[in-house]
Amino acid sequence: MAAAKPADTSPAPGIQLYVHFPFCRSKCAYCALYSRTGDTESFRKEYSRAAASAIERAGFVPETVYFGGGTPAVSFPEIAAAPLAEMDISEFSMEINPSDFTPSLPDRLLACGVDRVSVGVQSFDDTVLSSMGRTHTAAQAEDAVRALRAAGFSNIGMDLIAGWPGMPRDAWRLTVEKAIALSPGHCSVYSLIRERGTPLDIRLSNAGARPDPGEALDRVAEAGAMLGKAGYERYEVSNWAKPGFKCRHNASVWDGADYLGIGAGAFSRMGGMRWRTAPDPEAFVKAVSRGAEPPRTEEESPDALEDAVSREIFALRTSAGLDVANAVRRRPVLKCVEGKWRDCLEYAVSRGLLAKTSSGAFAPTPRGFEVVDSILAGLV
Ligand code: SF4
Repeated sequence: MAAAKPADTSPAPGIQLYVHFPFCRSKCAYCALYSRTGDTESFRKEYSRAAASAIERAGFVPETVYFGGGTPAVSFPEIAAAPLAEMDISEFSMEINPSDFTPSLPDRLLACGVDRVSVGVQSFDDTVLSSMGRTHTAAQAEDAVRALRAAGFSNIGMDLIAGWPGMPRDAWRLTVEKAIALSPGHCSVYSLIRERGTPLDIRLSNAGARPDPGEALDRVAEAGAMLGKAGYERYEVSNWAKPGFKCRHNASVWDGADYLGIGAGAFSRMGGMRWRTAPDPEAFVKAVSRGAEPPRTEEESPDALEDAVSREIFALRTSAGLDVANAVRRRPVLKCVEGKWRDCLEYAVSRGLLAKTSSGAFAPTPRGFEVVDSILAGLV
């Protein structure tokens, strides 16, 4: 079913849409994202129909769309995507777990408008993949990337995890080399975070192992050097892209845009409000089918200053950097923190953590990328 294109119904330009599909075949050892296992096909279909209804009800044309999870590919994404079919969307991304790849998947995704795929590779080492609890092999990930490209996807991203405990340095280099050889437009390299209560956390606790964030940062730096040599630009702490392949959805969110999150556990920032849809798929389906708003948790309406700060500071995590004068022009309420921000940022420049760009923005140096969150903490 394709809804008619809404005519000029967008409440404001530049709203990003995220749809969360919280269903996985099994839980990965490191994952603390909201998702669950064991749902029936019929419930996953019902959930996708509810997501489609919620998209229709939202009543605007999003600038970008991102289907994430969980694993959207096992959740009938074409059902949820139907209302978007006639809309003029600048980028439509979907996450893919190589375990869920089937020969028909690329054509199904192309048919529903997906034009960018982000493949959760994580590692090209089968021993590491098994220890992570991933249910695919390195060869399956490679085959999925090749098949997606052969089917017509030119905008392909890959996710890797740096700093897996016990992963030999040579194996990490081989993983990055393999990723580069497959030539995705985009590569995300996430520093492993030991999230409390995950199987990884329990495993490390039982072994009396201490987290070593330095190890993960070293591996990220190593990957960054290799990606840089291969023509990728680091445009955010964890993200590298070839020219023309930055993720527009995430870039817009970091630039302070509004985003609407649809689905159980999804986060939203719209106007002066922030909220999380309750991580309860049954409640989401039930509410939407009654024509009601799904229940929310963590709802807040920050004051104008807090809202402006939260929308502007994430520029500091990007290579474009934080342009203080521009931020104040966009959001005059920031005038009262301008002096404090400049002092804090100039101090970071004096420590070699930030550098001024040609346009006068403060952007992280390679060392600064490693500690950018502590610089951010000084701005709030
Ligand atoms: S497939 Fe993705 S969302 Fe699901 S458990 Fe693994 S990392 Fe988490």
